[in-house]
Amino acid sequence: MNTVKKVCVVTGGSSGIGLSIVKLFLAHDYQVFNLDISPSTFGEFRQCDITNVGQVSKIITDIADQGSIDVLVSNAGIHFSGSIENTSEEELERVFNINVKGAYAAVKSVLPAMKAQQNGAIILMASDQALIAKHNSFAYNLSKAALASMAKTTALDYAQFNIRANAVCPGTIETPLYHQAINNYCEKSGANKADVHAEEAALQPLGRLGQAEEVAELVYFLASDKAKFITGSLQVIDGGYTAQ
Ligand code: NAD
Repeated sequence: MNTVKKVCVVTGGSSGIGLSIVKLFLAHDYQVFNLDISPSTFGEFRQCDITNVGQVSKIITDIADQGSIDVLVSNAGIHFSGSIENTSEEELERVFNINVKGAYAAVKSVLPAMKAQQNGAIILMASDQALIAKHNSFAYNLSKAALASMAKTTALDYAQFNIRANAVCPGTIETPLYHQAINNYCEKSGANKADVHAEEAALQPLGRLGQAEEVAELVYFLASDKAKFITGSLQVIDGGYTAQ
């Protein structure tokens, strides 16, 4: 039997949370496209700098022209540590270009196809920092709060087309981005990495860090018909951190 697979587009799918999302949708028999600057062998890789709006639009339009786009997971993002005084204009722009403008490019590009098919699920990878602030995280906090707003405004504007948009707000998840942030902190402060790692785990009510696979399961649920009445929401997955 020749069945047409559902299509999922993931940005930043070569590493960490995005890679787990790509693998989970593949395991559920989706056709998965991964738009990333770094290559990966999982899913159908499309070399793409998410800050290049024209490039994102061209790649997503080409995918849509082959059939449909059922799910977009806008996940590519970077972390940057610094208070407002320690964040240069260039650093602020870099974080915003990748985390916010990149999501704008991906969401805007999938909407024509989703509107035409009167169906679609958009998941934006925000952060617990969309809801609460963390120290020395000025630009990142701002960018993730913007993504929460993008999920809500997209949900309202496109509900009439049966397109749902939600934001996922993970706490501290053990990925390459997390390890890089800890390494940077230890380099600057001289702290011991194992100690910092143990302290981070102890800060979580569940006593451990989250895993990328756990975030992927939430994303898959939000994309599925089981979540068909969920839109405009911020879904926290943080081991209880923001409940404190
Ligand atoms: P990661 O560094 O492991 O993966 C990020 C991916 O994005 C990489 O594959 C990278 O190549 C890609 N990417 C970066 N810049 C890009 C660009 N300009 N164009 C295309 N792709 C680009 O990070 P992760 O921890 O898996 O984070 C994924 C998302 O989850 C990010 O948006 C991050 O802010 C968010 N998040 C992570 C955590 C955490 O604790 N790890 C917590 C909350 C939210």
